[in-house]
Amino acid sequence: MMEDRKQLPEAFCMRMERLLGSEWEAFLASYDKNRYYGLRMNPLKSSREAFREQMPFILEPVSWAEEGFYYRAEEQPGKDVLHEAGAYYIQEPSAMAVVEILDPQPGECILDLCAAPGGKSTQIAGRMRGEGLLVANEVIPDRAKILSRNVERMGIGNCVVCSEPPERMAELFPAFFDRILVDAPCSGEGMFRKDETAVEQWSEAHVSMCADRQLMILEEAVKMLKPGGVLVYSTCTFAPEENEGTVSRFLHKHGEFRIEEVPHDAAFAPGQAAWVDEPAPGIMHTMRLWPHRLKGEGHYIARLRREGALSAPMPQRVCHMGKAQPAKAARRAAVAQKEPTAELQDFFVKEMGLTPDWLSGQRGRVQKFGEQIYLVPVQMISIQGIKVLRPGLHLATEKKNRLEPAHALALALKGAQTDKVLELSQEEAQRYLRGESLSGLTGGEQKGWTLLCRQGYPLGFGKASGGQMKNHYPKGLRRSYSYS
Ligand code: SAM
Repeated sequence: MMEDRKQLPEAFCMRMERLLGSEWEAFLASYDKNRYYGLRMNPLKSSREAFREQMPFILEPVSWAEEGFYYRAEEQPGKDVLHEAGAYYIQEPSAMAVVEILDPQPGECILDLCAAPGGKSTQIAGRMRGEGLLVANEVIPDRAKILSRNVERMGIGNCVVCSEPPERMAELFPAFFDRILVDAPCSGEGMFRKDETAVEQWSEAHVSMCADRQLMILEEAVKMLKPGGVLVYSTCTFAPEENEGTVSRFLHKHGEFRIEEVPHDAAFAPGQAAWVDEPAPGIMHTMRLWPHRLKGEGHYIARLRREGALSAPMPQRVCHMGKAQPAKAARRAAVAQKEPTAELQDFFVKEMGLTPDWLSGQRGRVQKFGEQIYLVPVQMISIQGIKVLRPGLHLATEKKNRLEPAHALALALKGAQTDKVLELSQEEAQRYLRGESLSGLTGGEQKGWTLLCRQGYPLGFGKASGGQMKNHYPKGLRRSYSYS
């Protein structure tokens, strides 16, 4: 809660009062109210009904987001074991509206161009149900690492995480994607109630710098969209220059795009043509989310479509052992792609207890990058010359004469896909996440690699031997505090 509304920049208040007129008082009063807290369940790991039954928190549905719920701040679900298992993602409720408007479909090629920390990428992946290719890009390397960790935690297998500026992405992926999301860096006025640094950084000069940068990003995004494709532009700010203004400037240069009118929640307000010079046709079909009109923070969303007929998504082929890549592309590839052999299949079946058809039933091709073995979505181009943090699902690491399963694999699996699985108590799960070895586990007569779960959600691998379960939870993820 903002303790003192005088903290809001004066020039911001004057502008908002002029724009909002009779609604200004209600808008201003929203800063004196508590903000809303949201989480989004992970449909890759559970059904909505099962999730609601399992969660120990009081949850209320977010009306505009199929997987979204409000939670009470004091319950702190971000500290729960099931958060580490990727059962849900903590996300501001209004932010969940953007992917609803994008409407991703299984099998498509989708780009999230400004993706960190990954709220929207992980939501997109949930809708894709593991089919197709999601490229999640974040230009700032440290933020890209957080994005990559969130993609892993949520058990997403068909996502390539990279870290390139938009202009480089445009060189690499010309007219490649069916849908693109530009969740643009902005002045963050819609987050003032949640984020005090956005208040401190605000200035009118910053707003116009953001507007120019947004247009530049859109200019690169458009080069990557197929004819007939969908481009969603969103911000978490109120400034008309960054919303209706940026969209109008873009459309005046790109006659091949039009604003689409899409069904949406009744609480969303229309974009305001009167707030900008030379508004583009259809600007009232863009959407504004106001904190005084709904239970969430401020957001703006526009859905644009490029004219032309969209070509059909690539057929979904199942797992290829490094052969799916055309010979020319394979020659271009940066790393030696020695075909992983039947050894991997053997390892998965004999040592991991995975069903014999698990690997062959996956969509993607198995590729080696040094010692790391990944399942790369079939639609992905060669990664040569691209800063890639995660080229798909990390399956295993080759050690001296043996294989070790990747943590990402554990999170992408379901308990039923292996017979080497063990359910942990809450206390055991907490100890596992702290990095402790476990002994005396019920069912602990297991030997070798074991998938450790809490309430059926995999947390990671352990390796059982002589009654002890050696902890293979990655060191960088271990937590020192105790969970509630
Ligand atoms: N979509 C993200 C999510 O839902 O978690 C939030 C994205 S945030 C609004 C905008 C992102 O754009 C930031 O992570 C920021 O680092 C990135 N960014 C900053 N400058 C950029 C630029 N010039 N081009 C592309 N992205 C940029």
